[in-house]
Amino acid sequence: MKIEFLGTAGGVPSLYKSVSQHKDTVQRTGPAIYIHDLQLLIDTSEDIFYQLRRSQIYDIKYGLYSHWHPDHTMGLRIWETLNYDFINKIPQSKMSKIYITKQQKADFKKYLGHWDHLNYLSEIAVIEKEVLENNSTINIKDVSIEWVQLAEEIAFGFYIIANTQRILIIPDEIKNYKPSQKVKEVDVAILPFGSNEVNPVTHERILEAGILDGLGETRFDESVALAREINAKHTYFTHIEATESLNKSQLMMLEQQLKQSGLDATIAYDGLIIQI
Ligand SMILES: [Zn+2]
Repeated sequence: MKIEFLGTAGGVPSLYKSVSQHKDTVQRTGPAIYIHDLQLLIDTSEDIFYQLRRSQIYDIKYGLYSHWHPDHTMGLRIWETLNYDFINKIPQSKMSKIYITKQQKADFKKYLGHWDHLNYLSEIAVIEKEVLENNSTINIKDVSIEWVQLAEEIAFGFYIIANTQRILIIPDEIKNYKPSQKVKEVDVAILPFGSNEVNPVTHERILEAGILDGLGETRFDESVALAREINAKHTYFTHIEATESLNKSQLMMLEQQLKQSGLDATIAYDGLIIQI
């Protein structure tokens, strides 16, 4: 399977000189992951247009969402941009299938007008939406995809089995998540990076002390502990905030530190493609 990290930022993409980013931050755009073999997109941030253009992706069959938060959803209109036929009187639009869990349906109804927007996209026939149970499994080609509801109940990960390969993708919100036995020892785990109050390589302070616990945000050391518990053959960390001050050489040093401590991990970057 060919999996591409279209965007590896979290809620704080690296806009030019934004208030909340560190000067050394690596350029990252909003969170999105694309599985090429299935033509399946996970999440649509506000940066999705440029991500799809950069990666020359123009025909998406399936869309999934991790949760309703704006950093994962505010590019919802991409389904219209991508699929609608603006040329013919009788539009010959393309259509993508969007899967939404019951939990997400309730959240999309409550927040940001997402459900109204999805209904509009259905009406103009650029998406077909299907509402699933929170623990559903679907099959596309020979691949099964199971929704994994997290301890933060608004959010979901995806447990994917393709031939003999097992992949766990959790885009965000892993606070207090206890992985079941089933998702352990997977071939690949994709997990959120969490955040650091001090640079984990230089120990320079980045954020005001206590802010992460105050906000209930996951710390990087919690993400690493979860990765060790899942014990994938290889872990990829994504959803990396522009408030992190890790430059390229520090990212490499951090990967080395993790490797020396027994965790085979890559810190993902925009455009990273992995073959599993
Ligand atoms: Zn997020």
